[in-house]
Amino acid sequence: MGGSALGCALARAGLQVVILERERHFRDRVRGEGMHAWGVPEAKALGIYEQLREACGLEVPYWDIYIGDRLLTRRDFPATTPHGSPLFSVHHPVMQEMLISTAKSCGAEVRRGAAVRGLRGGVRPVVTVEQDSWTSEIEARLVVAADGRNSPARKWGGFDVRRDSDDRVFTGVLLADVEISEDAWLGVMNPSIGQEAVLCNVGNGQIRAYLGHPRSAGHRLLKSHDLPLFIDESVRTGVPRSTYKRSRMVGPMASFASADCWVEHPYANGIALLGDAAATCDPSFGQGMALTLRGARLLRDQLLASDEWENAGHRYAEAQHRDFMQVHTLEQWYRTLFLSTGHEADIVRARALPRIESDLNRIPDLFGMGPDAATDEIARQRFFGEI
Ligand SMILES: Cc1cc2nc3c(=O)[nH]c(=O)nc-3n(C[C@H](O)[C@H](O)[C@H](O)COP(=O)(O)OP(=O)(O)OC[C@H]3O[C@@H](n4cnc5c(N)ncnc54)[C@H](O)[C@@H]3O)c2cc1C
Repeated sequence: MGGSALGCALARAGLQVVILERERHFRDRVRGEGMHAWGVPEAKALGIYEQLREACGLEVPYWDIYIGDRLLTRRDFPATTPHGSPLFSVHHPVMQEMLISTAKSCGAEVRRGAAVRGLRGGVRPVVTVEQDSWTSEIEARLVVAADGRNSPARKWGGFDVRRDSDDRVFTGVLLADVEISEDAWLGVMNPSIGQEAVLCNVGNGQIRAYLGHPRSAGHRLLKSHDLPLFIDESVRTGVPRSTYKRSRMVGPMASFASADCWVEHPYANGIALLGDAAATCDPSFGQGMALTLRGARLLRDQLLASDEWENAGHRYAEAQHRDFMQVHTLEQWYRTLFLSTGHEADIVRARALPRIESDLNRIPDLFGMGPDAATDEIARQRFFGEI
């Protein structure tokens, strides 16, 4: 998503762009399919929104958020965000295919089946690439590594990686014939067991279902025969069992560590990290795609504003990190209030939740505004019911 979105924007501006993509065909890797509303203006700013919407996007106005079996809010996003945007669902591999072919039609050279094997920073950074059993080197003015959550480019580029504690797991699976309303996502957070379930309509009658749980719960959700356990745990979290009555699995199931993982300054020596390579967000809060598009937009703007790309790279890195840290702060607040278990967490909830229920504006707007939501001390105190 990050590489193609940026490649598209830079090629359109007349720059010479080469995109190296390892996969010849994108497959379902179990990734993000629900982009939060604040990603929509980013996609529009990059000039890819209409193509995405027409090819594979579903605009979803509502999100029903439950705490256990109690409805906290049905939020109408177009009506309650300053940019008037809906939630936006895509089927991830279709979105990838569509974006990379758009980049090509914008003028980028796209090489598929091209696996990057190494990277050297410098005034003219160099990429080592293997394609059809041939290894070659490409020198460039700038290398953007958008190689995802397991990015080896971070190591090749000498970037230090920081990581939150790895105490939660997030599992996803693609289902058909799930009974939820067409125009809403469903999110259920159950603090008494520290679990969450998210059902995200991705079109064609298919639903991406996610389950987040503490690692200590010990669930092993890896293969198709684990679906009954996935459903049982989603029901225990608070989703009505009838939702899954006729459901069947139409894609792989996969589990991931939920911990955020990031580089503090994702630019050095002619190499910029983008998307998950720069900062991998906890998928529990679904910020990754919007943050990836924000990063692509920030980098595009810096590169097109000046010929001094060394300075442009550093300015991008500062802005990207600032945005990520805003999201990171809010994720930590949400995790503490909605997903932490134990006596102390219960005390905080007993104080905060009744106030939130009577004034939903106490919830900092991570989903509508992302990094532009308030994270100051007043916002924190209001969220945790301290004032
Ligand atoms: C279970 C799960 C659920 C998620 N849910 C959400 C959600 O609901 N909402 C949301 O916004 N985000 C979600 N995310 C996050 C979202 O999927 C990512 O933030 C987003 O896909 C990042 O895009 P990217 O372009 O940085 O990386 P990727 O999508 O991982 O793309 C990296 C690309 O680089 C290619 N590549 C990697 N290595 C090489 C190499 N050596 N040579 C050549 N090519 C290479 C890969 O083939 C791939 O095409 C979720 C993530 C997970 C794991």
